[in-house]
Amino acid sequence: MVVKLKVKETLLQAIQGDITREKVDAIVNAANSSLMGGGGVDGAIHRAGGPAIVEECRQIVSEQGRLPAGKSVITTGGKLPAKYVIHTVGPVWRGGSGGEEATLASCYTQCLKLATANQIKSISFPAISTGVYGYPLDPAARTAMDSVINYLNSNSTTVKQVRFVLYDTNAYNVYVAEFARIGGV
Ligand code: ADP
Repeated sequence: MVVKLKVKETLLQAIQGDITREKVDAIVNAANSSLMGGGGVDGAIHRAGGPAIVEECRQIVSEQGRLPAGKSVITTGGKLPAKYVIHTVGPVWRGGSGGEEATLASCYTQCLKLATANQIKSISFPAISTGVYGYPLDPAARTAMDSVINYLNSNSTTVKQVRFVLYDTNAYNVYVAEFARIGGV
């Protein structure tokens, strides 16, 4: 099942699946500040995309240092079906009073900005921060949707398709409920 919602000219969808298999212009990586790979979705993207991605990441870190939480950078997709990977660093959940929500919203906004700057038409997001970084799924899904919708409503963009790709059934069900809250089908 695919749930959908249209915001201006952009179609939002939630699907259950593996983001490394997405045939879109760009997939988003929930990276860590070192950009050198890790576990979870980060590990899966580097394994499937091959060494070209980490080489570009190393170059970026040598030029601009570690990537702070809430920021994004773009690299090749290497061997992935996606042309690009947009790496963003989510907040580590520390109870919610340390600005986690604003940082998570910034991840989504910065990714869409970078996508637009690179004429990207389709982008797939994982549920940033909801694995090892411990962000609870319900508020993470709400912030993901709200920040993407706010961005689309207040900016012009080349992005015509935003896909939320959820790895497990539980995360997918949370997004389905979130689409229902906002009025998608
Ligand atoms: P973080 O460190 O930002 O929490 P994780 O990779 O640990 O990042 O988890 C982020 C989310 O990505 C989790 O919901 C996890 O289930 C999901 N995930 C893990 N592997 C994949 C994959 N191949 N495709 C899509 N989502 C994935």
